[in-house]
Amino acid sequence: MPNPEEKNALLQRYHNVQQRIEQARQKAARKDEVMLLAVSKTKPLWMVETLAKAGQKDFGENYVQEGVEKIQATENRNDLPKLCWHFIGPIQSNKTKLIAQHFDWVHSIDRFKIARRLSEQRPDDKGELQVLIEVNISQEPTKSGVMPQEVLNLAQQISELPHLQLRGLMCIPQKAPTFEAQRAPFQQMRKLLHTLQTALPALPLDTLSMGMSADLEAAIAEGATIVRIGTDLFGARASK
Ligand SMILES: *Cc1c(COP(=O)(O)O)cnc(C)c1O
Repeated sequence: MPNPEEKNALLQRYHNVQQRIEQARQKAARKDEVMLLAVSKTKPLWMVETLAKAGQKDFGENYVQEGVEKIQATENRNDLPKLCWHFIGPIQSNKTKLIAQHFDWVHSIDRFKIARRLSEQRPDDKGELQVLIEVNISQEPTKSGVMPQEVLNLAQQISELPHLQLRGLMCIPQKAPTFEAQRAPFQQMRKLLHTLQTALPALPLDTLSMGMSADLEAAIAEGATIVRIGTDLFGARASK
């Protein structure tokens, strides 16, 4: 159980991150919303409950089992609002069923086989699963995500799947030391989303999930609609 100081420190960090987002949004003269996704991976349930009571609705998890446990522990409770859960980690095909059954969004689609399984395994009463294609925007050989030139083809295939709704793109770019260097891959993402919107005008492609603790300002400057924040919200993680 947390002591009161730990709880207050968490709420203070929440306030600070919200302020950073708001300042970056104003600096970019953005009139649309930027959603804060609280990345709670490896962090205890009390932290999720504390932020949920403070008004946070969207949470991101990287590990299926851990995420499902938190979803089940926070649903159907009259002391908490209804939460929205985003799966943001690498996906193995033997885990798609649990993801399709429990999560609301998936940010890390990087091949058609995974998308098809998620669509097939989505329960009828859950509505369409909201999905993003993960792009390997820095084109690093060992990283997950599809290469930029493959995105349109995958998007077309996903758009045919009945139980998925494609909403846009996600990336984790290579770390960069300066604001301008951070900004370059995010700008490519914005252009890539625009290409998709033009090629597939019937789809509701309104989402760019990009920006983490170290680079959320640069991402917001280039049009991020979801920033995924772990460390600066919950504190450093033990390596896992
Ligand atoms: C862990 C993680 C984050 C959060 O990163 P921080 O640097 O801790 O803010 C965001 N996105 C993904 C995909 C992650 O795995």
